[in-house]
Parts: sequence; structure tokens; C-alpha cells
Amino acid sequence: MSASDEDHMAQALQLARRGLGLTWPNPSVGSLVVAPSGEIIARGGTAPGGRPHAEAIALERAGDRARGATIYITLEPCAHAGGRGVACADIIAAARPARAVIALRDPDPRTAGSGIERLEAAGIKVEEGVLAEEAGAVALGHILHVTEERPAVTLKLAVGADGLMPKGKGAPVWITGPDARAHGHLLRARNDAILVGRGTVLADNPTLTCRLPGMSCRSPVRVVLDRRLRTPPEARLFDDLMVPVWLICSSDEEHPTTDALQDRGAEIVPVPVDAHGMLGVRDALETLASRGITRVLVEGGPQVARAFLDADLVDEAVIYQGAKPAGADGLMPFVSEGLDRVTSSGHFMQLEARAFGPDRMTWWRRIRRCSLALSAA
Ligand code: ZN
Repeated sequence: MSASDEDHMAQALQLARRGLGLTWPNPSVGSLVVAPSGEIIARGGTAPGGRPHAEAIALERAGDRARGATIYITLEPCAHAGGRGVACADIIAAARPARAVIALRDPDPRTAGSGIERLEAAGIKVEEGVLAEEAGAVALGHILHVTEERPAVTLKLAVGADGLMPKGKGAPVWITGPDARAHGHLLRARNDAILVGRGTVLADNPTLTCRLPGMSCRSPVRVVLDRRLRTPPEARLFDDLMVPVWLICSSDEEHPTTDALQDRGAEIVPVPVDAHGMLGVRDALETLASRGITRVLVEGGPQVARAFLDADLVDEAVIYQGAKPAGADGLMPFVSEGLDRVTSSGHFMQLEARAFGPDRMTWWRRIRRCSLALSAA
């Protein structure tokens, strides 16, 4: 592996990151075709909707110039039918590059090493593991979808200077300034779905869309955990149905509100309840995975946040802390426990800390998930 291999893979990963939230149920992958001179011949990222795949796009753009070149891919090329009904491994073999540099093996059993074998059988020199850890983080949603039948979960929390969450009063209460909020909207756009509890819908009456200029089309599917299906049909969620609203409710009882909510455009998604009659967050995630969701942003209140942490189902946490206190009616994150549950538990490592004017953002990653992504390499 050379410094320029890492450089090119970093660029391919940048392409992959750009597609996050757009390519489900497929992973967002990036690919570069580079001439022996070092000149970048072509770039490709997985198309919105998940097809064509990144390497097929990059090779199509490279044309004949791919012969003898190096192709960089952030995930092992598929060995099952991809792009135009042909597996990417076969498309690459036909394009005859001299080398293929691959960040990560694909745990999908339809590929799982056979994509690489096919390249080697075609006489292409394959190198694996370049920037594997970063690639694992970018592909985590796909990896968990395949290995644990659930999407990757990012928890988003906004607290005041006092560490408490502001309590909504029929509309969202902003505890941070516009720059931190814009960052939060970008976070929404990079996920396939955004999940809250019914309590948040009642308290904040949010729209849960991505409101960055030109990015409303990148809003993720909106999911509400609502065991007894008591979300009010007049909630603002239903005012804009450009992106779907899925209401997850218990499958073991009749819900008289079903028709009214469906009339408002909601999709009703029944899930079995656990022994305590509660909606299990693990079951909810499996249901989302079965619908193709690979990345979920959990933006619920303290109860929902704690349920995901208690079930050990939080892979990353993004905490925005404003300069003002949330005040006397602020809510404790994770119900009775504060932010320490993430920041001082030893289970999360801090990836990033950033200031947005007077506000502060910290990004945390579950330590075990990190090594899980690596072991999939
Ligand atoms: Zn493919």
C-alpha cells in the first residue's frame, strides 16, 4: 500500500459519504479509476436508489482508458448481478485494469470474498484493507444490515448548557443556534430514516424534514414509535408527504385510529410487543431493515434514547450543546441519567468536537461497533 493508494481511497470514501442516505437498500460506495501516471481518469458513486453501482459508473466513464489502470473501490465489488444485470466483479474483469484496491470485503453472503476471487482469476492484482476502518464506518449501515439484520443507529441529542433537553411546547424549542441546527439537518440527510417516539410528536409537533436549501428532497423516511397508534392525524408530519411517514405500532391489538391516519398518508407498520407489552426497539429496527433501511437517526426524547442505549443499539451519538440552559422544565437525557451515559461510560470514544458559534458538537462512536466493522474486513 502506498501513500497515493490511501489518497485515492480517501477520495473514493468522500464520494461514498456523499451518497449516504440516498442509496438504500444498497450501500453507498465510491470508486476511482486512476492511470499509471497518477491521473484520475474517472470517478463514480452509487446512484440514488442504489443502482447503478459506483464501480460500474466509474468504468463506464473511463471507457477504454480503464485498461491497465488502477481501480479504487470502498467496498468489494458485487459478485451477484448489479448495474445492468451484470455483477460488478465481471464488469471490472472485462475492463482489464491492472490493479484493484479495495478498502473492505463485503459481508453480504452473495459476495463475501467471491468478488475478489473473480478479479484475481481475471489476472487483476488485488490489494485489500486500504483505509478499512474508515470504510467500515461509512459502510456500517450495510454491514449491520447483513450481519445483524438491523440498520446502523445514530443518536442525536440537543441539550442546553445545563445538560438538559429543552421541553417542546407544541413546537420545537431551539437550544442551539442556526449553524448547529444546519449541521443537524445535514445529519438527517445522511440517514435513510429518522425515528422519534410519539411523545416527541406531541411535544414538538415537528416536520422532521431536512430543511437545508435545495436538500428537502434528501429528507429521510420519518418513523414514529407509537405502540397504540395515538399520533394525532393533524400532526404537521403529515402536511408534507414528499417523504413517507411510517407509524410503528403493536401488532397484537386493533387500532381504531388506523383509517384516519392512513387517510393522512401514514403507512402503518405493526411490530410484535415484548413480554412487558412494550414495542421492542430491536424488533422495530429489524422491521426497518426488512424494508431496506440501513441507517437510522434517532431523535426521540429521553425515553426513546434510553431504550436504544439500554438495548445496546446505539452505534454513534451526536450531541449538540447550546450556550443557554434548558431551564427548570428541561428533561434529563436518558430519563434519570445524564449525558454521562454516553460521554463517560467508556463504551463510546469521541471522534470529533466542533464549535458552531457559541454551541458545541461532539460526535461519539460505540467502541465495539468499530472493531466489528474492522473484523468484517
Ligand atoms: Zn455492484
